[in-house]
Amino acid sequence: MKYIFGPLKSRRLGNSLGITLTPYKICTFDCVYCQLGKTNVLTRERKEYIFSSEIIEELRNWLEGHSAEIDYLQYITLSGSGEPTLNIRIGDLIREIKQICKIPVAVITNGSLLAEDCLRRELVEADLIIPSLDAATQAVFEKIDRPVSGITVDGVIAGLIVFRKEYRGQLWLEIMLAAGINDDLRQIKKLKVAIDKINPDKIQLNSPVRSTTEAGILPVKRQKLEKIRKILGDRCEII
Ligand code: SF4
Repeated sequence: MKYIFGPLKSRRLGNSLGITLTPYKICTFDCVYCQLGKTNVLTRERKEYIFSSEIIEELRNWLEGHSAEIDYLQYITLSGSGEPTLNIRIGDLIREIKQICKIPVAVITNGSLLAEDCLRRELVEADLIIPSLDAATQAVFEKIDRPVSGITVDGVIAGLIVFRKEYRGQLWLEIMLAAGINDDLRQIKKLKVAIDKINPDKIQLNSPVRSTTEAGILPVKRQKLEKIRKILGDRCEII
């Protein structure tokens, strides 16, 4: 399999079959905490990085060969080795996946391109979108996510606010917190203001536990995570 991986078991998604929509590693960000390593191609150019026909053919073959496992899958998850929304055929892929099987489709995205109307329209048929938002100010955003030039945190937040209004599925906002980089409580309070405007169904706090792109990126201690969870309110959980 070139594009399909798993099924993987996780607490938040259960059993999910992953599909990558980009070659390793093309992204709009080069996050300091990324577990995939340094971004090879830092870009905001959307194109068909992997042909959707090849992805669908591989998925059809997988489904045919794993009929016993299909009933145990909670999601087919578009994520993988880069930013999936960079693939300009993501909307067609979601539609085609839903035509060939009944498994709900989730998209894990860094949310950087949600300011683009056409992308938001392409995602509406997904069942679950998990965008990330790691900062509320440009300085912290640049420090932790190291975006390609032209992407601003205000633009990302604005895209998320509009998307929430247009999208009827589940929206779970993930926040990756790294000690000493974006876990300052003043920053968290600013994030809370942005999150209240976005109005996601869930807020999920995460902190890097595996190896990261940059050395010395440390997880936030549990006690502080609990404090942050309380600030962010009832819909917030630590994952
Ligand atoms: S957005 Fe995701 S894939 Fe891209 S650099 Fe950050 S963690 Fe890695």
